Amino acid sequence: MHQAALLGGMIHDAPHYGWKVAQPPHNWGKMAEAIQNHVKSLNWGHRVQLQDRKVKYFNFKASFVNPHMVCGVSKGGEETLLSADHIVIATGGRPRYPTHIEGALEYGITSDDIFWLKESPGKTLVVGASYVALECAGFLTGLGLDATVMIRSVPLRAFDQQMASLVTEHMAVHGTRILRGCTPLRVEKLSDGRLQVTWVDLASDKKDTGTFDTVLWAVGRVPETRGLNLEKAGVRTNPNTQKILVDAQEATSVPHIYAIGDVAEGRPELTPTAIMAGRLLAQRLCSRSSDLMDYDNVPTTVFTPLEYGCVGLSEEEAVARHGEERVEVSQGPGEGAARTQACVALHPVMAAPHRGPRQAGVLASCFPGPAAWQGGAWGPERWL
Ligand SMILES: Cc1cc2nc3c(=O)[nH]c(=O)nc-3n(C[C@H](O)[C@H](O)[C@H](O)COP(=O)(O)OP(=O)(O)OC[C@H]3O[C@@H](n4cnc5c(N)ncnc54)[C@H](O)[C@@H]3O)c2cc1C
Repeated sequence: MHQAALLGGMIHDAPHYGWKVAQPPHNWGKMAEAIQNHVKSLNWGHRVQLQDRKVKYFNFKASFVNPHMVCGVSKGGEETLLSADHIVIATGGRPRYPTHIEGALEYGITSDDIFWLKESPGKTLVVGASYVALECAGFLTGLGLDATVMIRSVPLRAFDQQMASLVTEHMAVHGTRILRGCTPLRVEKLSDGRLQVTWVDLASDKKDTGTFDTVLWAVGRVPETRGLNLEKAGVRTNPNTQKILVDAQEATSVPHIYAIGDVAEGRPELTPTAIMAGRLLAQRLCSRSSDLMDYDNVPTTVFTPLEYGCVGLSEEEAVARHGEERVEVSQGPGEGAARTQACVALHPVMAAPHRGPRQAGVLASCFPGPAAWQGGAWGPERWL
């Protein structure tokens, strides 16, 4: 969807570069069908690869019976018991609904649903400030829809805030309405089927309403641990996050049960890290290697209309860890969204005289701009 939105932007800009093109209308149904076919073909490809490697595949919903046995329930309700020496939990997470908000569950959708909508969501309110919220609002705007994003406090909280400002300013300039410091109170369905949302401005305590075709909640994700009967296996979770506690080997509190990906505590919620953690775990279980997954300095990209790739610490985190006087932020040429790169580096400072200068090096690098996902390739040579 991000790519579809970028293409629309290019068609819009093309006449300025001498191309004689009309702005064609966007066909949501066609795009949705292509996405669904692509996902289905990926699933099919994975099943074929499993079969080729003689891996048995069961389409079951699983839960523990005891530390060595799970019960799988098929779509038709048929139960199958499976036992194994080692068990890997990789059940990911699901979007969270703010159930304390009246009408949220009845009338809202989440980012998991938007990719499967057969028809355009129309005028949409996206509630949230994470990359998921901003990406959804960004591509809906890019597809020509009226999109508003409602942010309670800080957008892209875990990211460098200077870069986060560039991303949101660019979105606002390109047509996304951004409501800051606001939180929804209720969602009601009107007689014409549209949704009326009432929200409050947290600074002024003033209430306001707006009418939308779709309300999309992007207010966080919950790990899929509740239906697993983890207590029957003795697998411990963090009571606050519900995520599974793991060690460097990806082992849970039960040594032969492992957890990888979004369901595991303290892991970055990213596809490539989940895949790599799984590969390395498989190699260790087959005694082919003893390599552990390195979760430090994993590059990531936010696919907002102005893409933003980064690796390492945000400026805020670097200052908090090392002190303002030791952190130097250097920026590439350009202003605003045209800025090409920013680096957060650590000055060498004299520590205790007998120890000599403490190490200096690069803590982070950010890149806002087209194809920012390639950022991992330009990581600095000297990481701390
Ligand atoms: C809108 C959005 C955009 C994202 N964009 C990016 C991105 O650009 N780059 C990136 O790296 N990451 C991105 N992510 C994050 C990425 O999707 C996750 O980090 C990744 O999918 C985690 O993989 P996983 O294997 O842990 O879980 P999942 O991919 O969620 O897979 C879990 C699987 O387990 C199954 N399952 C659950 N419970 C059971 C059970 N009881 N029995 C059997 N099966 C079960 C589920 O059906 C699912 O198939 C995005 C996420 C969202 C929501």
